Amino acid sequence: ALVSSDRACRCKYDIKSVVSWLFLSQFLSPRKFAREEIIPVAAAYDRSGEYPVPIIKKAWELGLMNSHIPEDCGGMGLGIFDSCLITEELAYGCTGVQTAIEANSLGQMPVIIAGNDAQKKKYLGRMTEEPLMCAYCVTEPGAGSDVAGLKTMAVKKGDDYVVNGQKMWITNGGKANWYFLLARTDADPKCPASKAFTGFIVEADTPGVLVGRKEMNMGQRCSDTRGITFEDVRIPKENVLIGEGAGFKIAMGAFDKTRPPVAAGATGLAQRALDEATRYALERKTFGKLIAEHQAVSFLLAEMAMKVELARMGWQRSAWEVDSGRRNTYYASIAKAFAGDIANQVASDAVQVFGGNGFNSEYPVEKLMRDAKIYQIYEGTAQIQRLIISREHFSRFKK
Ligand SMILES: Cc1cc2nc3c(=O)[nH]c(=O)nc-3n(C[C@H](O)[C@H](O)[C@H](O)COP(=O)(O)OP(=O)(O)OC[C@H]3O[C@@H](n4cnc5c(N)ncnc54)[C@H](O)[C@@H]3O)c2cc1C
Repeated sequence: ALVSSDRACRCKYDIKSVVSWLFLSQFLSPRKFAREEIIPVAAAYDRSGEYPVPIIKKAWELGLMNSHIPEDCGGMGLGIFDSCLITEELAYGCTGVQTAIEANSLGQMPVIIAGNDAQKKKYLGRMTEEPLMCAYCVTEPGAGSDVAGLKTMAVKKGDDYVVNGQKMWITNGGKANWYFLLARTDADPKCPASKAFTGFIVEADTPGVLVGRKEMNMGQRCSDTRGITFEDVRIPKENVLIGEGAGFKIAMGAFDKTRPPVAAGATGLAQRALDEATRYALERKTFGKLIAEHQAVSFLLAEMAMKVELARMGWQRSAWEVDSGRRNTYYASIAKAFAGDIANQVASDAVQVFGGNGFNSEYPVEKLMRDAKIYQIYEGTAQIQRLIISREHFSRFKK
């Protein structure tokens, strides 16, 4: 089954969800996929840093990728909640693999929320025909949190825009078939961010798109992270999303739908750390008894379990809000910030439960601790989430 029965109960919030859950549980089984296809090879991919092409192809064949592509573009049209169920299970297997897969959702989301029919059919449709990747190109070497500080410039010339600039830390950067690109179209530094930027779809093989080397990161090492340089790249005006000046809102708006899955990924990692630590505590003996029988260890596991359950409720709430058609910015940031933090705490605690073995790469938990860190950085750092949460919180009082 896709999920244990208690979790299944919680996802039954409308008929479409029940139907898709039944479909997922009967035919797709991401839990089985994570156990059988990802976990056995995750450590080897972590060591080599190789991009997990065979796993991605199998996931695509089983329909475990691109689940939210609308039905009229050939996709399954799942909601965020249902997609998150898949994400959490894949992340349980390996968050490097899950991030490679999830980066597709991040790249696609601006097109899903802002693309016209022709753009959706062309760029989302092709991803249902073959296992292609895409990427979200926003961050630059000089600006990550401060998106308004982006320098990449797109200048209108005839029917094209000509783009020059540099992007950094782009997941799937070297594997993408196309990119969502955010570039400045108003050079006036006084122009507000809400009008200064435009969102484009860029074919990866466009002349002038220069892909940098694969970055060697602390964790999630099989995920492909690169810098991308744009040198006089011509983008036809048909590839503008909505219109000139609409890009900032599109790029930021995508996060309401992609932060719940990031939180689900962090929850999957934390659940794995809890399960590994629990199994170990029920085998390892010190002072004549199982370490699980020492209250300090059992209470630590209890705390870890509390955090995992609450992180899961966090992504569920934020996904449910957005699937119900309500603005979920507040809940998405709470879910992302909380799950990112607890993934780090729970993975570190799992290393503690393993003692010396936890510090060694023959055991699974040191990888989890390295993999967890990025959840406090990408898709908005832990600090930026707190800025958003406080701003949203205060806005409720100022009305
Ligand atoms: C592995 C990886 C994958 C990534 N994938 C992508 C991707 O696919 N697409 C993409 O566009 N980007 C991607 N990123 C970029 C990521 O989103 C940024 O790294 C992140 O938003 C932080 O930006 P920065 O690195 O420039 O740090 P900075 O913005 O320079 O921040 C540095 C520190 O200062 C803190 N800080 C900054 N401003 C404030 C403030 N106002 N208040 C309090 N604290 C503040 C931050 O929280 C952080 O701790 C990825 C990054 C990594 C490492």
